[in-house]
Amino acid sequence: MGTKEINISIKELETELGQIKDLRMSVGRLAQETWDEPQGPTPFPSLTTLRNWDLTLLNRYRPFYLPLCDLCCLCTYGKCDLTGDRKGACGISMPGQQSRIVLLAACIGAATHMNHAREMVTHLVHTYGDEKKLDPGGLSIKVEAPITRLVCGMKPETLGDLEAVLDYAEQQIGALLACTHTGQEGNPLDLESKVFHTGMIDHLSMEVADIAQVSAYDLPKADPDAPLVEIGYGSIDTTKPVILVIGHNVVPSVGIMDYMQDHDLTGELEVAGICCTGIDMTRYSARAKIVGPISWQIRYIRSGIPDIIVVDEQCIRTDVFDEARVQQIPVIATSEKNCLGLPDRTGDPVDDIIDEFTRGTLEGALILDPEKVGEIAVRTATINAPKKRKKKKAKLTLKEGMEEAKKCTQCRECRRACPNDLHIPDALKLFARGDSAMLAGVYDACVGCIRCEQACSEDIDIHSLITLTAEERLEHESYKLRSGRGAIQDIEIRQVGGPIVLGEIPGIVAFVGCANYPSGGEDLAEMAMEFANRRFIICTSGCAAMTIGMYRDADGKSPYELYPGNFEAGGIVNVGSCVSNSHIAGAAIKIASIFARRNLRGNYEEIADYVHNRVGAVGVAWGAMSQKAAAIAAGFWRLGIPVIVGPHGTKYRRMLLGRADRDEDWYVTDARTNERIYVGPVPEHLFISVETKEEAMVMIAKLSMRPNDTSRGRALKLTHYIDLHRRLLGSMPADIHRFVRMEADIPITMKEDIVAILKEKDWKETVIPDPTLIRKKEVVS
Ligand code: SF4
Ligand code: SF4
Ligand code: SF4
Repeated sequence: MGTKEINISIKELETELGQIKDLRMSVGRLAQETWDEPQGPTPFPSLTTLRNWDLTLLNRYRPFYLPLCDLCCLCTYGKCDLTGDRKGACGISMPGQQSRIVLLAACIGAATHMNHAREMVTHLVHTYGDEKKLDPGGLSIKVEAPITRLVCGMKPETLGDLEAVLDYAEQQIGALLACTHTGQEGNPLDLESKVFHTGMIDHLSMEVADIAQVSAYDLPKADPDAPLVEIGYGSIDTTKPVILVIGHNVVPSVGIMDYMQDHDLTGELEVAGICCTGIDMTRYSARAKIVGPISWQIRYIRSGIPDIIVVDEQCIRTDVFDEARVQQIPVIATSEKNCLGLPDRTGDPVDDIIDEFTRGTLEGALILDPEKVGEIAVRTATINAPKKRKKKKAKLTLKEGMEEAKKCTQCRECRRACPNDLHIPDALKLFARGDSAMLAGVYDACVGCIRCEQACSEDIDIHSLITLTAEERLEHESYKLRSGRGAIQDIEIRQVGGPIVLGEIPGIVAFVGCANYPSGGEDLAEMAMEFANRRFIICTSGCAAMTIGMYRDADGKSPYELYPGNFEAGGIVNVGSCVSNSHIAGAAIKIASIFARRNLRGNYEEIADYVHNRVGAVGVAWGAMSQKAAAIAAGFWRLGIPVIVGPHGTKYRRMLLGRADRDEDWYVTDARTNERIYVGPVPEHLFISVETKEEAMVMIAKLSMRPNDTSRGRALKLTHYIDLHRRLLGSMPADIHRFVRMEADIPITMKEDIVAILKEKDWKETVIPDPTLIRKKEVVS
């Protein structure tokens, strides 16, 4: 189904009432049928339409709560103490409260993606018209919007069609947010079901945003050979004027790059991005550069390199203007959602604003017109750069830094405040004596949050000292990242669908999220390459994709240079920015539709059941996460795809854990016979936190098992699980007997050891069913 606006235009009409001339009117949007797949049972699901499916998952993967705070202070009855069996003044229990907070976080995340999508689509409709055809993959893609087809039961064809999808998403997020009000939903499982619903709406919104921008801006269209682009502090040519863009919505950056193109300035300035705008800029023009992920904001602004800073929306430090002001860098805010307290100069003449910026009488402005932003940013940076380079005060020298370090009283407050517990006081003590090595070493694990500086009573610019000692390395930080390719081609799905469903490609691992963790980049790159070498399919997106790219092997090559960008065994596939995450879920959905020929249209439960039981996909989000990451994870949960996070498990408030010891939880229905069959705990958890990358790798291998694995596939997956467990945790896993269904599942090279364990555990052979958690069809004998 598509939707079309009906426009009526009457040049001249004689009526009894008089004469009408040049009348134009629009009569809203009418449904238009252009898709012959039969409509499934759940198009545009409401909050409770998929509740039974959610409860099926949640009864197997029960919430395990890790309260971060014992109090609720959401309303003025409170603060309410929720410890033990206590309830709040509204009657809510601690489990209910924890699920409510998770729902609130997921709503914030989903609303953010949804509104990002809305602004993107509104702008593109305004620029290109609502009849602009969607084209996320040229001839390589027939299923252009798998999540939209699945959730809404409609097949969007134009930008205008996406508006109807967003109407639905907005209505749902409003309702979900209402559920968190005092005296509303309090049952923990019902709240969790709503968390899943929020996640599904989040994935829908991300898909809308990405297919809109890919289609209108001609970003790489499902291209495994998307260009290799430059990333890293040292990749920016500082002899040119530098425009730094921070955020997630590429529209103002497109304004900048279009202005440069139209005025033959491409190559004359550097346009450098931080966070997902950085990735999307390189999808628009491979000449754009990426400084790094979210945690690079402070260090790059304090470097004084940018000649102007343009911020759009999401994950931008709220003190960005204060930091820029210290460096005398003008700031342009471009989003109504993030005005930074700046005067709205949208309606003022461009020349006036540039004049004020370059004379230094204006420090920042809100400009809500991307084309104006483009011109002002380029012209201001061009004028400011030479002046700035000339008058730039010499950077703090190492000697001056050492003097600063001498102010340290060793109170250790900075270390207490540091989320990564870094040894700052010890490193400063050494630095004050002339030894900078330890402080430079802190750089690797520092995520640039400057909580240490906030805690320091001596006002020491701790983070600046860390980057000062690591400066030489910073200047050589230059790597290659494969720019976001967008969706996965239908033909790729056809080629890998069978091996994935049979377990012979052991799994799809998606590394997503913010990677704000000590050595996060290195850990992620190591994990990605380990599993690519094991012939898993690796998908990356957003800041996780960037940090994986900021790794070099002994020959100086990044993972994106070492591994193909195809969606195939052994590929490392960067789909793009945060909103491109939708293509990872979309690929799992397309396996059910294109490979298994299941109906997609409005048929969520059957497809999720298929994905959960057959597609060995696992999500990994490493490090401190935003609310958007919570929503993204929830979208994977509703599809039955497990997610691993780490470390610092309690910060995630609750996990969704299976109980391997409760045999009764691990039965499925065999769709061929309608018999109930024990399949073992596969996948064992839906959401689990681990503390180290070693535990994460073992868990990835374990959670890739599915009931549908053939014996060959299961033997392969067990080989990876056992091998990683032995190598990284130093022992044979204690639960192998739960994953062996028949002798043919046993990896040949490990047969002797495993048979001995099976004997000891009194193991019994079972069968491999055609697994489903939902179907109860009549068997015709
Ligand atoms: S929402 Fe409920 S638990 Fe929270 S402060 Fe209000 S009455 Fe207390
Ligand atoms: S800026 Fe770095 S050292 Fe300071 S608190 Fe944050 S992570 Fe720790
Ligand atoms: S908080 Fe400041 S004074 Fe205290 S140990 Fe850290 S750097 Fe030194």
